[in-house]
Amino acid sequence: MTDALTANRLEINGIVQGVGFRPFVYQLANHYGLKGEVANTATGVSLIVEGPPNAIRQFIDDLPVKKPPLAHIVDVSATPVAVNGFTVFSIVKSRSSAARTTLISPDVMVCEDCLAEMRNPADRRFGYPFINCTNCGPRYTIIDDVPYDRPKTSMRNFRMCAQCQAEYDDPDNRRFHAQPNACPVCGPRVALCDAGGKAITTDDPIAETARRIRSGNIVAVKGLGGFHLVVDATQADAVARLRRRKHREEKPLALMCSSPDRIREIARVTDAEERLLTSIQRPIVLLEKRERTHIADAVSPRNRYFGIMLPYTPLHHLLLDAGFAALVMTSANLSEEPIAIDNAEAFVRLDGIADAFLAHDRDIYLRSDDSIVSYSAGCMRSIRRSRGYVPVPVFLKDDIPPVLACGAELKNTVCLTRGKQAFVSQHIGDLENRATDDFFRLTVDHLQRILDIDPQIVACDLHPDYLSTRYAKERAGSIPCIEVQHHHAHIAACMAENKADGPVIGLSFDGTGLGTDGTIWGGEVLVARYHTFTRAAHLATVPMPGSAAAIREPWRMALSHLRSAFGEDLGALVLPLFRSVNQQQMNVILAMMDKQINSPLTSSLGRLFDAVAAIIGLRGKVAFEGQAAMELEMIADDTASGHYDFSWEDHGDDPILISNAPIIRGVVRDVNAGLSPATVSGRFHQTLIILFDQLCRHLRTATGIDRVALSGGVFQNHRLLVGLTAALEKSGFDLLTHRLVPANDGGLSLGQAVVAAAKVAAP
Ligand code: ZN
Ligand code: ZN
Ligand code: FE
Repeated sequence: MTDALTANRLEINGIVQGVGFRPFVYQLANHYGLKGEVANTATGVSLIVEGPPNAIRQFIDDLPVKKPPLAHIVDVSATPVAVNGFTVFSIVKSRSSAARTTLISPDVMVCEDCLAEMRNPADRRFGYPFINCTNCGPRYTIIDDVPYDRPKTSMRNFRMCAQCQAEYDDPDNRRFHAQPNACPVCGPRVALCDAGGKAITTDDPIAETARRIRSGNIVAVKGLGGFHLVVDATQADAVARLRRRKHREEKPLALMCSSPDRIREIARVTDAEERLLTSIQRPIVLLEKRERTHIADAVSPRNRYFGIMLPYTPLHHLLLDAGFAALVMTSANLSEEPIAIDNAEAFVRLDGIADAFLAHDRDIYLRSDDSIVSYSAGCMRSIRRSRGYVPVPVFLKDDIPPVLACGAELKNTVCLTRGKQAFVSQHIGDLENRATDDFFRLTVDHLQRILDIDPQIVACDLHPDYLSTRYAKERAGSIPCIEVQHHHAHIAACMAENKADGPVIGLSFDGTGLGTDGTIWGGEVLVARYHTFTRAAHLATVPMPGSAAAIREPWRMALSHLRSAFGEDLGALVLPLFRSVNQQQMNVILAMMDKQINSPLTSSLGRLFDAVAAIIGLRGKVAFEGQAAMELEMIADDTASGHYDFSWEDHGDDPILISNAPIIRGVVRDVNAGLSPATVSGRFHQTLIILFDQLCRHLRTATGIDRVALSGGVFQNHRLLVGLTAALEKSGFDLLTHRLVPANDGGLSLGQAVVAAAKVAAP
């Protein structure tokens, strides 16, 4: 006797379209002998299963466990329905209304099955650099509109051959409804072009590209989210030439290696880091360098880490098959401009940089840089969230109205929200030039279209001159435009990704952000809720002589902090710093501060790092924001004992004022005593850890709040994050830190969105 038949309707939400979910359901249903049907709907996938209750239960249990790799199930609801008497299980054609509110898959690495076919000489896709299936390949970057169907992607230019079409139509095939499905007969092709964009005749463009890279050329290679500039990482001359031509003097360059074993030859890789390297998102992972390697020094100068990734497109695999130890793979752009994506555009913008171009004819609709992550204090930390992660939403605790948050100025991202979902865009960049501004506008329009979100609230930074703020104001029109203080947004972003409610004690540490009092904040301790915050404590302010120039020239910040700490006695100091700056220039800067000319006040912790780096002689000028602070972290001696004095003043109503002077005096004393920069850096880090742990405990006593959130670009500092996390946990705090979105300004748009929604909702 068999069990009685029952029937269930299942509604599944999440990333369940365009990722092989319906064929998976079809096969799973057949496996358990269930009948019924499955279809895409507006919010995901809907199915009916009929069969014995036990089989249905097993089927439901298997869904989240055996799902296709790209599928992301947010929730499953099951309701009993009347038995209909289905005789088979079938895939029903999508309803035309479907798909506006479903989630779009990010671009992900080529899967093992496709790689095996690509390497099989008997396979019709042998050596084909665009092989893909429902489990892998491009998605987000080739979509122009929804629903996600081939005509709405850049694959519309390629008509499938009979064999590809047959795969596409067959529910039992791995390529059933794989929109980018293609083969050498019908699909995209690579072409090698010279520096002028003229095609180079060759039987094997990829092998010829490898040959040219081996002979020291810089080749622009079109990938998934844009062009890379590629050189052999072991050739110092080639790396130096790339830096010169790209005007990128010092920032580390990313590497690509063919396998984890190859990576281990040049860097230390823990198990956790290997899991990140091999994850389907294939991010760049920051890994500690080995002492002696064949990698050119100029790849990552004055840095303990290499940023390394594994190949993620079939084309990368084919290129690395030529046997390189490592390739430099850096976004193809002039410094700080967005990555080039279009062939014609690349020929123009990379003129004079690339010696050759390995292009292809599958258009990229939306550029997406490589993502960067690190493993720090027990979890993955996102540093740049782009390819592979976007557009997977950050899931919020509560529904909020549709918001468009425009982000900050540097490392800009934007965020659009829908219900409990917050879609943080890919990395857009620094909004300091026309090209990035265009990309910003394009991304906002594109995201709104493919997510079908009509914002009811616009959010932006307090700073009136940011391009993102100006855009928000002109864009808002009749809907509310909510200004969100920069450091409040940082803390709110951290709360939001942790689905946590306020109040929290928020440590919001970064380089720059406009405060509510008109000074430049950056060393802020806030008591924060989503809709409001108070400034509980901050570093005492010092002038930033020359404003933006003080960011480029940390010696100015050093002078400012020394002036504050020593006053009249400044002239008597003997420091290595003073030997590297000419006396006249120094007097000009001191006079600027005395007369308060172009010297805005700042409480920034990032600038305090800069000052200490300059005082100990690390560097007086930087090539990119945060460089001095980063190098200060890199040299720190783990074993250095001791710390500097610190003090703060609590006057009750006003924010607690944390004095910089005792720290600066301690640093100067150690430098004069001949202690190494490594020891001073170690002690400086230790000072901050003890100081802020004590301050949080002080505030806990005063407010009763025992939850602490850490945010802001300073928390990319691994040493500070690890040390402070350990100290605060030992003190019994409930700790919130960033994992999904960056602690830096790349995460700011998320915070702006949730704050703006809360402010509008607050009475
Ligand atoms: Zn595949
Ligand atoms: Zn074909
Ligand atoms: Fe910031």
